[in-house]
Amino acid sequence: MDEAQKTGKIRFFFRHECSDIDFDRGVATVKNLETNEETTITGEVILGTDGAFSAVRQAMMRQSGGLRFQYSQSYLDTGYKELTIPATESGEFRLEKNALHIWPREGFMLIALPNLDGSFTVTLFLPFEGEKSFANLHSPTEIKQFFDTYFASATEHMPDLIEDFYENPTSSLCTIKCFPWQVDGKVALMGDAAHAVVPFYGQGMNASFEDCVVLDACMDQYPGDWNHILSAYETARKVNGDAIGDLAVDNFYEMKAATADPVFALKRRIELDLEQNFPDYFSKYSMVTFREDLPYKTAMDKGRDQDALLMQYARNIYPGQEWDREEVYKMLKA
Ligand SMILES: Cc1cc2nc3c(=O)[nH]c(=O)nc-3n(C[C@H](O)[C@H](O)[C@H](O)COP(=O)(O)OP(=O)(O)OC[C@H]3O[C@@H](n4cnc5c(N)ncnc54)[C@H](O)[C@@H]3O)c2cc1C
Repeated sequence: MDEAQKTGKIRFFFRHECSDIDFDRGVATVKNLETNEETTITGEVILGTDGAFSAVRQAMMRQSGGLRFQYSQSYLDTGYKELTIPATESGEFRLEKNALHIWPREGFMLIALPNLDGSFTVTLFLPFEGEKSFANLHSPTEIKQFFDTYFASATEHMPDLIEDFYENPTSSLCTIKCFPWQVDGKVALMGDAAHAVVPFYGQGMNASFEDCVVLDACMDQYPGDWNHILSAYETARKVNGDAIGDLAVDNFYEMKAATADPVFALKRRIELDLEQNFPDYFSKYSMVTFREDLPYKTAMDKGRDQDALLMQYARNIYPGQEWDREEVYKMLKA
């Protein structure tokens, strides 16, 4: 927003909520939440970047006739709650700041990510129902006991655990796919509005910025021709939006398997060994996260093939823990 503001060409309105879109006229209805006043905004093009529960997308869903809007949302049975590890009184980090902290447990986990002010945002991922679940944490005593049992090395740094737990919402995790992403060169969806993903690859925001990069390239390719711009953008991005959605769900199950399945754990060790010894070897995770030259769909296809071969190899040698590095590398290259 700071950068956009510096251009002097962007006007920001806060507390204004889009409630409907007239697709024929390219008009958005917007409500000022302070005054409850409704106004309409007309633009050459409307870009709906209003997140996972997008009002622009909902307006597209209400369109009858020619649009034939496809939509799916699927929830994980796991939810999340954000908690905090505050900075020390002198503003220092209580844990190593140059690290992603993960406390993986079977079927649930805690993670902590550093903030600039010395605190960490801590996220508990836990099933909604079942033996170890949000539904089964009934009282402050049970919550404290649960954290002391499973996350003792984090809990000692969380003086406000109980207050945070009750004050912060328990939220759900959803993958949203839809199509089309644009209507007649007048309205388009971008970011989570087009492709909300679960957060297990840490790529949701990056995927949204990739939408911007691709839209920008399409604007250069078809100057002023929004019909072509938006349909080229949609074609380029839809397949990759779906791919990162699927990858993120894959990773949720893989993170669980890492603690529960010894063959999977062995496969991960082989992968790490390959990455450390062959600079041109990339695991699926690394392809998705670090290879800017590979769109998500390509990284997913290559990564899944590689994973299948490595799992087979690990299964063949298990319970042995020795592997032939060169042989595995050659197998994957072939
Ligand atoms: C727990 C969790 C952890 C995550 N971790 C990561 C991570 O580590 N890395 C990563 O890259 N991504 C992560 N993500 C995903 C990331 O937050 C999103 O992909 C990203 O914020 C999407 O950006 P966006 O602009 O499309 O939508 P949003 O950031 O959701 O922004 C949408 C905006 O639209 C506004 N809005 C909503 N409805 C309306 C309306 N009707 N009218 C007007 N405005 C409206 C909202 O107030 C909001 O400001 C995580 C998500 C979750 C839930």
